[in-house]
Amino acid sequence: MTTVLDRTTSPATPSTSPAPLLRERGQREVFCGLTSIIWLHRKLQDAFFLIVGSRTCAHLMQSAAGVMIFAEPRFATAIIEDRDLAGMADLHDELDRIVARVVARRPEIRMIVLVGSCPSEVIKLDLSKAAERLQARGQYAGVRFLTYTGSGIETTFTEGEDRFLASLVTALPAQEQNAKPRLLVAGCLADVVEDQFRRIFTALGIEQVDFLPMRESTVMPSVGPSTTVLLAQPYLTETARLLQSRGCQLLHPLFPLGEEGTTAWLRAAADAFGVDPGRFEAITRPGRDRARIAMTRARSELEGKSLFLFPDSQLEPALARVLSREAGMVPLEVGTPFLNRLHLSSELDLLPSDVTLSEGQDVDRQLDRLRDAAPDLTVCGMGLANPLEAEGFATKWSIELVFTPIQGYDQAGDLAELFMRPLRRRALLQTGRA
Ligand code: SF4
Repeated sequence: MTTVLDRTTSPATPSTSPAPLLRERGQREVFCGLTSIIWLHRKLQDAFFLIVGSRTCAHLMQSAAGVMIFAEPRFATAIIEDRDLAGMADLHDELDRIVARVVARRPEIRMIVLVGSCPSEVIKLDLSKAAERLQARGQYAGVRFLTYTGSGIETTFTEGEDRFLASLVTALPAQEQNAKPRLLVAGCLADVVEDQFRRIFTALGIEQVDFLPMRESTVMPSVGPSTTVLLAQPYLTETARLLQSRGCQLLHPLFPLGEEGTTAWLRAAADAFGVDPGRFEAITRPGRDRARIAMTRARSELEGKSLFLFPDSQLEPALARVLSREAGMVPLEVGTPFLNRLHLSSELDLLPSDVTLSEGQDVDRQLDRLRDAAPDLTVCGMGLANPLEAEGFATKWSIELVFTPIQGYDQAGDLAELFMRPLRRRALLQTGRA
């Protein structure tokens, strides 16, 4: 569900980035981390996500996932609300019972992820101890148990992925001494995008490449000082921190959105692995040309259109960069729930200097700024989109940008298309009313 958190509001603070930073700590509206299960469970083909939560959590997953996935789900909710402390022992029994049922019904499952949530009963339950207890049982040999929290008190929807991947990092084996250099791409990517990147890395001569999350939970990449990490998503603060604590080297290029971002991202890996610049140019040229052609087409519809991004996915600065530099859009405000200056340093350098960059949210104030700015297009959560449409704003759901393959050269046109559709729809509505 959408969470609304109350925090105190602090005044605008100066920023060292070219764009001024408005830091807000008021009410925020964003989906909780459970939502990330919808794309994570599709990626890991042999994992089962067991939410330990309430009826609200179950309804969120049913309604959000029900309209967006068509495969047999590999997630479920163990509903444990309406219990008092005296019922905690039963709670472990119930968890054991559900796990036993999952393993019996789905013998192909090799990883069970216990996902924590908000209700006070769940907070009282130590899920990592429960996972350890289940792991220690001989009856589940061959099944790995992991745990993380998707609670709306602690996480936004993309942070759910960060917490899961961080949990995965703690389970990755250590590299052997003097291991060959390896590239680790961290962050969930659609299979089609992952395949494209793997082909490009292979053509560049970078053969030792792992992706996190992997498609099969039994294929755990080893990590250590010989690992170079390329983040595919900007919201992986905890995952990156843990990988660095394992000795991995982290790169900080642009994120692989649009022609410019994809080239910078690939080049960072190529430079780290000593790829000859001429070879890099030859291998990436066809993709760069395709992406440029797609963005040039999009420009005819997007150029000059103003854009206001509410803070939802943490993709916002990278989206504003690609839409302004490659499609000619004019970002007015770029919101992000959290601003990781290190991971986003390259992105921030390329934002227009007059854009308002905001971190956190005070939703009423932000809505006032939106109405004053009157942008052509607003990117926001589902909870805000319908009321804003009713007020006459064209909107784009931010969560769609996480579900849709938008990274890489061949998806640049699809990325632009996502922003063209609501503008076309709004134009049709206005024509119909005229
Ligand atoms: S985890 Fe919390 S915010 Fe998320 S659906 Fe459950 S109760 Fe709602």
